[in-house]
Amino acid sequence: MTKLGQHFLLNKKKIGKIVEALDLKSGDVVIEIGPGHGELTESIKYHPPVGGSSIKIIAIEKDENLADFLREKFSQDKNIEIIEGDALKILPNLVNSTLRTSDVHWTSDVQKLKIVGNIPYYITGYLFRILGELENKPSLIVLTIQKEVAQRICAKPPKMNLLAASAQFWAEPKIVGYVPKKDFRPAPKVDSAIIKLKPFATASCSSDKYYKFIKILFKQPRKTILNNLVASIKHQVVSTGYQASREKIIKKLQEIGVDPQARPQNLSIEQIKELSKITAIDFLAA
Ligand code: SAM
Repeated sequence: MTKLGQHFLLNKKKIGKIVEALDLKSGDVVIEIGPGHGELTESIKYHPPVGGSSIKIIAIEKDENLADFLREKFSQDKNIEIIEGDALKILPNLVNSTLRTSDVHWTSDVQKLKIVGNIPYYITGYLFRILGELENKPSLIVLTIQKEVAQRICAKPPKMNLLAASAQFWAEPKIVGYVPKKDFRPAPKVDSAIIKLKPFATASCSSDKYYKFIKILFKQPRKTILNNLVASIKHQVVSTGYQASREKIIKKLQEIGVDPQARPQNLSIEQIKELSKITAIDFLAA
C-alpha cells in the first residue's frame, strides 16, 4: 500500500468529470480533501462557474511535502488556501467556520459550500461518518472512492445494506462515473467510482434512534426482518412476555406494509426510515 493512499489521478477527462459533477456556481466555496499535486484543484480553478465570478478553494493535504509543493504552486492564487493536516480532524470545524464566515467575497450560505476529493480509500468509512454527523451539511459532495463501496452506498432493494441505510439517511447518492485503476499512478488494486451526494436539508427522523435501529435491522442480513428485530429485544425484555413483544413487532411491520418474513435487504430507504420512527423505542426499551 502506498503512503497515505497516494494514487494520483492522471486522466484529465475523469478529472473533468469530477469538476462537472460539482456543478460550480459563482461564489461557491469548495473544500477539497487530499489535493495531492493539485491537478483537481487546478481544474476547479480554471472551470468557469455559472454566474461569472470566481470560487474559493480550501484544500486539506496531510502530506507535509505535498502541502509545501501546493503552497508554492498556488502562491499567486488568493482564492486558493492550502491547509496542512488531517482532513478527518479538520473538516467538522472547518465546515462550521466556513459557514460562519462574514467575508463579503464569500458566502455564509450553506447552499454554496461543496466538498470534493479523490480521497484515499482508507479514510472512506470514517469520512462518511463525519459527513453524516455534520450539523450543517454542504449542498453537494463529490468523492472518488472504491467502486464496490460506491455501489454499496447507492444500493436499492433487493440489495439494501447497512452502509446504504447509513448514507441514504442524510443524502441522496448517485454514481456519476467510473475510473479504472489504470488511470492512477501508481495504480491501486481496485477500480474507483465518482459518487455525488446531495445532502437533505433536514433529517426526516432522529439520527440516534435511526442509527441504533439500522444496526439491529442489518445485524444478521440473512435472517428475516422479524428475527433480527426480535433478537434485539429478546434479551432486553426479560420481565414482559416474549410472545407479546413479538406480536407487537409483527403488528407494527404490517401496519406499514412490511412483510415480517422479508429480509432487510428488501426494504426501501423510505420503509427503513419509517420503521425506525415507529418502532425504535419499542424495540430498544419495550
Ligand atoms: N487529489 C489527488 C489526485 O487526484 O491525484 C490525490 C489523490 S490521492 C488518492 C489522496 C491524497 O490524499 C494524497 O495526496 C494524500 O497525501 C492525501 N491524504 C491522505 N490522507 C489524508 C488525510 N487524512 N487528510 C488529508 N489528506 C490526506
